[in-house]
Amino acid sequence: MRTITVEEHFITPAFLAGPGKHFMNRFRDSGPAGAVIVDRLTDLGDKRVAEMDAAGIDMQVVSLNAPGVEQAEPDEAVACARDSNDWLAEAIKKHPTRFAGFASLATQAPDKAADELERCVRKLGFKGANINGHTRGRYLDDKFFAPILARAEALDVPIYLHPTAPAKPVLDALYGGFSPAVTAVFSTGAWGWHIETAVHLLRLVLAGVFDRHPKLQICIGHMGEAIPFMLERTNRVLPPQLTKLARPVADYLRQNVHYTFGGFNFTPTFLNLLLEIGVDRIMFSADYPYGSMAEARSFLQHLPVSEADRERIAHGNAERLLRL
Ligand code: ZN
Repeated sequence: MRTITVEEHFITPAFLAGPGKHFMNRFRDSGPAGAVIVDRLTDLGDKRVAEMDAAGIDMQVVSLNAPGVEQAEPDEAVACARDSNDWLAEAIKKHPTRFAGFASLATQAPDKAADELERCVRKLGFKGANINGHTRGRYLDDKFFAPILARAEALDVPIYLHPTAPAKPVLDALYGGFSPAVTAVFSTGAWGWHIETAVHLLRLVLAGVFDRHPKLQICIGHMGEAIPFMLERTNRVLPPQLTKLARPVADYLRQNVHYTFGGFNFTPTFLNLLLEIGVDRIMFSADYPYGSMAEARSFLQHLPVSEADRERIAHGNAERLLRL
């Protein structure tokens, strides 16, 4: 069975020296496990391919690690995104059957970001873009970002909406008052990253982004970032009479969004996603190097689904959406 993972990360020297410096240094200084992660992120070559072989992963669709360039100054973001995309294109050239890419975009400069997306898709063969949440507190439903969404729709490529830490006022109000160590995890991997991403996606729906861009496809990870759990309720209490949208909220979540594992190798969470969204919009991923490829592969193998559905999740849905 072919296996394609779609939320997988790397870093470049320019990112490490620039927009990723703070985040990556914190990781590296956190101890040996953090240093191993940083080391793995820097390799997009033979070492990673050997690890993929050992875990039974055929292809990774990779993206620049969070926080990406979204929190940087516009000029730095434009330069770092372009450098990262060129760096990734070179890595893909060496292993074209093992790696594919999502573009990094300087969302601070939407027209330039749209042009960069087009360059990445048309010239470098990338499969879409990865956007790391808000851009200094602004969300993608802001009309400011419309050129990026319009170009993704026109190019018929998805935008992967990846988590980032909440903006400072949100972080202080919702996640403060604990030890720095607890706040750091509570506001990110334990809760904040995921809820932040779910709210971001709902903002896109409620702002009418998918009425304006009906063909636009968004991907989210982490088994749906808690969206499947809330879907029925949100759909019921936000009907079209209230939202003035063309369709019920659930329609957009079932027709304009794809969902990936992202290291959430939890069967009850998967079943919730499967029952709410359906098998055709679920894609395999490991969130490498934060999640274990071997664990994800074993989870996939033991999912309580038919073999045909396992194939859809393992590779078929990604092949269709990303034209792999
Ligand atoms: Zn990730």
